[in-house]
Amino acid sequence: MEIIRGIAASPGTVVGKALLLGAAETHVPRRTIPPRQVEPEQQRFHAAVQAAIADLGGLRQRTEAQLGAETAKIFSFHEGMLQDPSLIDPILGLIAGERLNAEAAVHERFEQLIGQFRAFKSDVFEQKVDDLIDLRRRVLGKLMGEEEDRLARLTEPAVIIAHELTPSQAAAVGHGKALAFVTESGGLTGHVSIVFRALGLPAVVGCPKAAESVQDGDEVIVDGDTGVMIVRPDAQAREECLRRGEQARRLRSALAENAGLEAVTRDGTRIQLLGNIEFPEEVTAVLRNGGDGVGLFRTEFLFLTSDQAPDEEAQYQAYRRTIELLDGRACTIRTLDLGADKWTQAMLHEPERNPFLGLRSIRYSLQNQPMFKTQLRAVLRASAHGPVKIMFPLVSTLMELRQARLILRDVMEELDEEGIAHDRRPRVGIMIEVPSAALMARTFAAEADFFSIGTNDLVQYTLAVDRGNERVASLYTAASPAVLQLVKNVIRAGRHAGIDASLCGEIAGDPVFTMLLLGMGLRTLSMVPAQIPVVKRVVRTVDIGLCERLARRVGSFDSERQIHTTLRDELRKLDPANFGGWAAA
Ligand code: PEP
Ligand code: MG
Repeated sequence: MEIIRGIAASPGTVVGKALLLGAAETHVPRRTIPPRQVEPEQQRFHAAVQAAIADLGGLRQRTEAQLGAETAKIFSFHEGMLQDPSLIDPILGLIAGERLNAEAAVHERFEQLIGQFRAFKSDVFEQKVDDLIDLRRRVLGKLMGEEEDRLARLTEPAVIIAHELTPSQAAAVGHGKALAFVTESGGLTGHVSIVFRALGLPAVVGCPKAAESVQDGDEVIVDGDTGVMIVRPDAQAREECLRRGEQARRLRSALAENAGLEAVTRDGTRIQLLGNIEFPEEVTAVLRNGGDGVGLFRTEFLFLTSDQAPDEEAQYQAYRRTIELLDGRACTIRTLDLGADKWTQAMLHEPERNPFLGLRSIRYSLQNQPMFKTQLRAVLRASAHGPVKIMFPLVSTLMELRQARLILRDVMEELDEEGIAHDRRPRVGIMIEVPSAALMARTFAAEADFFSIGTNDLVQYTLAVDRGNERVASLYTAASPAVLQLVKNVIRAGRHAGIDASLCGEIAGDPVFTMLLLGMGLRTLSMVPAQIPVVKRVVRTVDIGLCERLARRVGSFDSERQIHTTLRDELRKLDPANFGGWAAA
C-alpha cells in the first residue's frame, strides 16, 4: 500500500481500477519476469515491432501519394531501423539475460543508443536522436496499448491517472469512462480542476509521482475531500476511506436540502446564487441545486471538446438551449476565453513562451475577429429567446473594452440589415481578473454595465503565482490582503457608479469565504452548481451585520494565514454541525 498526498480538487471518495494515460512517454513499467515468461515476452516484443512496421508502411504509402516519394523516405528509414539487428538483438538479449519485461528492455536499449548518438555532439546525430525518440514512442505505444484503444476497451469506468491532463482531454474522457482523476501536475483553480468539479467526479491534482506508482489495473482509492490517493490499499485503509466518503456524502445530502429554500440572510437580505457552467446541459444541475440562473457560461468549452471550431449555427443552438432551459432566469455568456491552459499548444504554429501572459481571452478574440464576430452573432441571435448578458474575459485596458464594444455594435448592425431578431440593448460587462482592471475599476465602470470578479485569475496575476502549478500551490490563495484590497476596490467602484459587481471565481463556492464576501458588499455569487446548497446554507444562517464586522476585522489583517484561519474558525462557530469538519482549502 502506498499513500500519496496531493491537492483536493474535486470532492468525493471512490475505489476503482487505475488507467494510466500518457504513460508510454513518461512512465515505463519495469519488472523482472520469470524464466518461463522469456519466450512469450520476446514474442510480444516481435509482435509490437511488426505492428509498428505495418503502421509505418501505411504512413509511407499515404505520404508518398500526397506529398511525394522524397518526403515519404523518412518512413522507409524508420522501417529499416526497426528491422536492424543492432537494435533488435540487444533488446531480445535484455529480455532473456536480464529477464526484463519488454517495455523496460525497449526503453533501456533506446536510452543506450540515444546516449551514444548524443555523445557525437553533431547536428546530424542530434536529428537521429529525434528519430529514435519517435520510434521508441511507437514501439512502446504498441506494447502498452494505444490510448484510444485502451479507453475504448474499458468495460467499466476507471480512475484516470496522468502526469498532466488538459481541460479538453478531461472533458473528452468525462463520464462513462472516468470514475475519478489523479494528476501529478495542477493546482486547485487550474482549468482542468474546474472541469473535474463540473463533471462532479472526485479528483486529486498536484499528486507527486502518482503515475509512477501505479500500473494499469491496480486498485486505488481517490479521496477528493482530503486530497489523498492510496495505491493498492489494505483492507483497513479501504474501509476507513469508504466510511469517510460516506460521511462526506451524508453531509452533502443534508446540505442539499437547502437547494429548494430561498437564499436570504436572517435579516432578510436576498442573495443571488448563480451557477458557472461549461455546457448547456449543466443548467439542469444549476436548477436542481437551487440556483437563480447562470452567472458564467465558459463558452470556450464548446470549442475545446471538438476537433473543429463550432460554426455560428452550432453555437447559436447551444446558447439558445441554455437560455430556454433557464426559462427567463439570469444568463451571462462569457465570450471565448481561449489561450493559456485552454488552448492546445499544438494548435499554434509557434507555442507561446509564457501562455498565461500571452494571447489569451479577449486579446485572442480581438486578434481573431472573424471567430469573435461569429460568436457574437450566435449570442445575439440567441438573445431573442430570453435575457442574456454578454461578458468579456481578462480585459486589462479600456481600449480592449471599447474595441470589443465596437465589434459588437458592428455585428448588431449586420443582424439588423439582415432582419434577424436580437436583443437591441444587451447588457455588456467585463470580468475583473487582472490587477490593472481592478485598480482602474472606476474608469471601467463608466463604460461597462456590470463587473464580475474572477478571483481565479486575479489571485494568479496579483501574486504572480501560476494557478495550475503544483510547485507554488501553497502560495496561491485568495485570502491575501492584496487580493482582498483589489476586490474591495472593485465593489466600491461598482457601487459608486451604480452598476452590479458580482464574483464568479472558485471562492464564490467555498463556504469559508461566504461571510467575508457578503460583508464586503457582494450580493451575487456564481459558482460550480454543486456548491450552491452549501453556500445557501451559510447565507441562511448569517445576518449581514455579522458579515460586515468580520470583513472589517479581516481587512486589518496582514497575513494570509491569519485571514484564512479566522474565516474557517468563524464558519465553524457559525454552524458546527455542518461545517465543524469542513475541509475546503
Ligand atoms: C476566474 O478567473 O476567476 C474565472 C472565473 O475565470 P476562469 O476560471 O474560467 O479563468
Ligand atoms: Mg479567468
